[in-house]
Amino acid sequence: MRIGVPKEIKPQEFRVGMTPDGAHELTTHGHEVVVESGAGVGIDASDAAYEAAGARVLPDAAAVFDTAELIVKVKEPLAVERARLRPDHVLFTYLHLAPDVPQTRELVASGATCIAYETITDATGGLPLLKPMSQVAGRLSVQAGAQALERAHGGRGLLMGGVPGVAPARVAVIGGGVVGENAIQVALGLGADVAVLDRNPLVLERLAHRFGPALTTLFSSKAVLEQAVLDADVVIGAVLIAGADTPKLVTRDMVSRMKQGAALVDVAIDQGGCFETSHPTTHQEPTYIVDGTVHYCVANMPGCVPNTSTYALTNATLPYVLRLANLGWRAALQADPHFRRGLNVANGRITCQPVAEAQGLPF
Ligand code: NAD
Repeated sequence: MRIGVPKEIKPQEFRVGMTPDGAHELTTHGHEVVVESGAGVGIDASDAAYEAAGARVLPDAAAVFDTAELIVKVKEPLAVERARLRPDHVLFTYLHLAPDVPQTRELVASGATCIAYETITDATGGLPLLKPMSQVAGRLSVQAGAQALERAHGGRGLLMGGVPGVAPARVAVIGGGVVGENAIQVALGLGADVAVLDRNPLVLERLAHRFGPALTTLFSSKAVLEQAVLDADVVIGAVLIAGADTPKLVTRDMVSRMKQGAALVDVAIDQGGCFETSHPTTHQEPTYIVDGTVHYCVANMPGCVPNTSTYALTNATLPYVLRLANLGWRAALQADPHFRRGLNVANGRITCQPVAEAQGLPF
């Protein structure tokens, strides 16, 4: 199969859909890979590196879309990219169609087969192609919290791990899923005093088992959560209720009673956020102050470490790309009901129930 990797064109997006290693894997399986010139610049992968991996470098996106049958990207296609899609194209990327009516309409009209990373499931009920970005965001959230604690950023002027004789910062992680677990690992590694709150006893059990007595595990009742927030120097919001709006667990009133210079990192901001005082920010201006507390609410956290994020993403997507290329999309999806759940648009119609429902369309 001919697989195309265009350069990402969404503002501030430096990731790329396929690393040279990924391209090499595909070419050794007998597939042809075409890459837009400069596509890997954000991850220090030159055109020469892709050529050495057996890929062909083409001068622009138009040439990549013209040549390829399977298009592998990171972000949803922008209007100019959507206009290039044909009925014989298979598009494999993050789509997040539910709230995006114009994109959905144009993908349906294109006749292309569109498979979204974020709706593919696995046998444990997880989302295997969202997981790597949650891992990155969870680990980054502690870096973000540590910076926000610095005096120059409006923080309390605390060092996350303290020093001998001086207590470390207290970190409360709300939600012990993929983001939460990765945040806990890094925060404990820095020497912080860490508590996790979750409403699922099995999650708390698993984390207690993994981290031992270094981690305080708390059932996330209203009263316990409030006390943990008021005690904390850093609060990391990592809650998700699948298919529902993120609950505003930390209210404006709680924020007004927090320690001056405390940091709030709302990783769940991409789903609306779990602090009442959160609003989305960017990597250019990641923080703002509310009642003396520093808020960090960047909605695309992995975008600031495109190198790590691209390699993590390709590690997860490559087995799926290989199946699409080896078997063709119909047979690949038929063979795996979890992969089948990634199909969002095919044959000029929406094929993903939550997307149809979110847009009030019949399914
Ligand atoms: P996950 O499903 O693995 O974990 C969510 C956890 O929240 C679960 O353990 C669940 O039991 C817990 N939870 C639900 N209600 C709760 C409550 N009231 N109190 C405490 N815990 C509660 O999800 P994840 O992959 O860890 O993602 C967490 C959030 O981070 C999501 O909103 C995701 O979209 C977001 N995210 C953001 C970025 C970014 O760049 N900002 C990147 C990746 C993920």
